Amino acid sequence: MEWQNVVFHQGNEELQRFIEIGVLAAKAGVPIHFHVEGVRGTGKTTLIRAAKSRLPQLERVKDCRYNCEAGSPHCPEHQSLTGLESEVVDTPFLEISHSAKVGTVVGSIDLDKLTSVHNPAAAILPGTLPRAHRGIVFVDEINRLADTSPALVDVLLDVMGTKPGRVQIEETGLPTVEMPVNLNVWAASNPDEEPGPLQEIRRQLADRFDFVVRIERPDQPEVIRSIMNASAQNMAISLEAEKQPLSDLSLITLDEQAEDFLSNLYIRYRLESIRGIQAARLGALLHAALYGRRIAGFSDLAAILPAALRHRIEAPKLQEIAAALGEEVVSEQKKATSPAKAKKDPAKDRGPQRYPALWRGLWQRLSKKQNQSSGKTVAVNTPQEEKQGATQQNEEKKTANALTNQGETNN
Ligand SMILES: [Zn+2]
Repeated sequence: MEWQNVVFHQGNEELQRFIEIGVLAAKAGVPIHFHVEGVRGTGKTTLIRAAKSRLPQLERVKDCRYNCEAGSPHCPEHQSLTGLESEVVDTPFLEISHSAKVGTVVGSIDLDKLTSVHNPAAAILPGTLPRAHRGIVFVDEINRLADTSPALVDVLLDVMGTKPGRVQIEETGLPTVEMPVNLNVWAASNPDEEPGPLQEIRRQLADRFDFVVRIERPDQPEVIRSIMNASAQNMAISLEAEKQPLSDLSLITLDEQAEDFLSNLYIRYRLESIRGIQAARLGALLHAALYGRRIAGFSDLAAILPAALRHRIEAPKLQEIAAALGEEVVSEQKKATSPAKAKKDPAKDRGPQRYPALWRGLWQRLSKKQNQSSGKTVAVNTPQEEKQGATQQNEEKKTANALTNQGETNN
């Protein structure tokens, strides 16, 4: 299915956003890894495969199976060569199934070359991972892979442990080849089916994903009708018109207050690894880039933070963070809607406002919580404190009066 034929609705809007962010990340050469969790029938695999039609083209050394960049070749064949001829090809989008073998994923002996009649030679045939360099690798049913193939999990841990990651090809009788791979791992799983959520099977692998994205079934009859009719009216087209993405991430900075907010999160909530914070930062930059803005702020953070943290901290803490972030978004939007700026910012309906489904659950729980805590705040205020407050107000009034009077006298 082509991307423009996908019907978007509240249940799949988070995945839509991360696919767009992921495509931009691949284009910018700054990889991100995300894992989509959802029950059967939500269309997660269809949506991910539809992203193929959104991928840009890339320039590589002619016929290089490792997608070497002409300016800095990295593969065993071209590493030491210069002045190489180049060609433009589609960005690779390759898949690894849960039952794949290490040899096909990493690389193996090239039997064609070994058995060549005229020029037999022992050579490496690169596997899925080295061939997906600078592109996307999609692992469907990653929870099953984690359950049945610890060897493949180790390979993925190496690939996703650093950016760029590393892959090592070992074959008896041949020298071991190790090379960098700059690729984006997109994965999907159904946590309700055997063997259960990835986080419970291999926590370390779950943590390697920058984001965990949720997808839900459509719950409105109009959406079902559009899906049946493959209606051409969808969000992708309208978003397309208003977006002019920036693909150079070095042009974008995170607002200083948002940066402070993130570093405080790490300390205050004692996050296990710093990956969550790094992912959130990168996600916010990419989200701003998607809308062609050079400064990423709280609303960009709000759009990606649940996905950066939901597999790393418990739900009550995430709700607390959402509440704090919500306040920052509101005050940021107040600033943005001041008459001077209002016209200039077409994407001011971001964050909680733009992604209602994602935040709805959080807000509902939060508003209950806020009511409770505001009750407490009133009770905690002692009469003395209130009196102090009143005195202070009187003082301010006096000062104001004094200033006004003085002004009048001078006139
Ligand atoms: Zn090469």
